[in-house]
Amino acid sequence: MKTPDFDIKNLIRPNVARMKPYSSARDEFKDFKENMVFLDANENPFDNGVNRYPDPRQATLKSHLSTLKRVPVNQILFGNGSDEVLDLIFRAFCEPQQDNVITLPPTYGMYGVLAETNAVGNIEILLNTNFEPDVNAILEAIDAHTKLIFLCSPNNPTGNRFDDQTVKKLLENFNGLVVIDEAYADFSSAESWSAQLHNYPNLIVTQTLSKAYGMAGIRLGICFASAEIIDVLHKIKPPYNVNALTQKSALKRIMDERGVEKEIKIILEEREKLQKTFKNVPFVVKIYRSEANFILAHVDDADKRYNQLLARGIVVRNRSKQPLCENTLRFTVGTPEENKKLIDVLKKLD
Ligand SMILES: *Cc1c(COP(=O)(O)O)cnc(C)c1O
Repeated sequence: MKTPDFDIKNLIRPNVARMKPYSSARDEFKDFKENMVFLDANENPFDNGVNRYPDPRQATLKSHLSTLKRVPVNQILFGNGSDEVLDLIFRAFCEPQQDNVITLPPTYGMYGVLAETNAVGNIEILLNTNFEPDVNAILEAIDAHTKLIFLCSPNNPTGNRFDDQTVKKLLENFNGLVVIDEAYADFSSAESWSAQLHNYPNLIVTQTLSKAYGMAGIRLGICFASAEIIDVLHKIKPPYNVNALTQKSALKRIMDERGVEKEIKIILEEREKLQKTFKNVPFVVKIYRSEANFILAHVDDADKRYNQLLARGIVVRNRSKQPLCENTLRFTVGTPEENKKLIDVLKKLD
């Protein structure tokens, strides 16, 4: 089951392997006790709730998330959104001007942007017409400098979750790292790939509080991987990348499991309702099955329908410029009231 010849040491950039991490005041002394006097970090001593630097390892939040997601604490890293986590992965493993990554359009735009920013090649292998990865084409495209393959599952903007056997084939036949972006995993009934970390040393799973947890504004991204991979990412992350207010509100939210579940349930019911409605809208040619909180719809004329909706105060995403997505609109599932408004408008458009 394990990937043959996989050794994380072969993937780490030499400068990253050599470097020592910045050691912050809170890294050097973390043995907190009541009534201690902290004169080590040049903070303003007057308490206003945020005058102290935040915990660079986010211990409290991590231990709660560890229990919730059943992943050991030393296999978790947090970032300022998953966008920062993805950027750290690039910077730890991809040598600028030399290495490359494989991405599978139509997919999340940030992988390509991050490749560009980090001067890393981006080999694009289109999904097939069922929006599944083309394993043979991907395996053929891999060369000596391919470090990462990005799988977004459930995929944005198509909404489908990739077939398990397909993902397994990639994990088992690639000696670089497979990054599975599970931003929408909480809307899918399938088990997270994080449960397979012990089987695949080359697996990285990312999640976020931005979607199902309803906290896009606080910026908290999550990375699950082997302890060795997490150590490397820890070494290069800015020490205070997750601020005190974010740690505090994230903790409060993940402890309210019932509240989160209730909202997810409503969103899933609304998704079904919207899917049924779309089937009866004359200008909708096809809708794609979704395991996320959005629906991709193939319409007769995306620009026209986009503008009609906009004129009635409804903003959707026109994905037509993405390959395989000609004349598609992506609808995020809103509140029941918002969806009702959408349905009313859709019924009246001609
Ligand atoms: C929305 C989204 C994210 C979220 O990124 P954050 O930086 O955590 O807000 C990540 N990946 C995909 C595919 C997304 O659609």
